Amino acid sequence: MTENESLPEEKTNLDPDKQNDSRFIVDGMLGSIARKLRIIGFDTVYSSNFEDGFLLEEALNSGRILVTSDIELFLRAKRKKTATILVSSRIERDRLYEILASLGEKRIDLRSLKSRCSTCNGRLKKSASLLNEKIVFECISCGKTYWRGGHWEKLTRLFREVNFMLQNEQNEMLRENQK
Ligand SMILES: [Zn+2]
Repeated sequence: MTENESLPEEKTNLDPDKQNDSRFIVDGMLGSIARKLRIIGFDTVYSSNFEDGFLLEEALNSGRILVTSDIELFLRAKRKKTATILVSSRIERDRLYEILASLGEKRIDLRSLKSRCSTCNGRLKKSASLLNEKIVFECISCGKTYWRGGHWEKLTRLFREVNFMLQNEQNEMLRENQK
């Protein structure tokens, strides 16, 4: 698909009022987005090997929202009445914004993130040990450990930028309503 090919106006078929505790299945092109969704705390199934047929069936059977950048797949999901979000941007920050705005999320709450393991989607628990006086979290499924080091600052900067975009959108909606 070329840049200028027209995209459908609607990027999702979700009802924004009904999206709490959303769970996702993410298509194979969007691995980095899948990891970020897990870090934000969303239950997110992802594999680079998932094929379109599997994605559609699994989304339908599990009630997970299919996140894709593939317009054909998006339209197929819509035809099957499967909840889906089309990610059309190429910039990661904008992609996250597109997904969260589709859900009607107002912000990423950085103070109370319930991150999941970015590798396997498992839940994290606090480990007894500290690393350089920082709390260590351990994945209860694969055992991978996490702590909030330098990479965390980069992530929080990204999440703050997404929050800024979400906030701007709300302000614009308010202005529209006041007209
Ligand atoms: Zn894990």
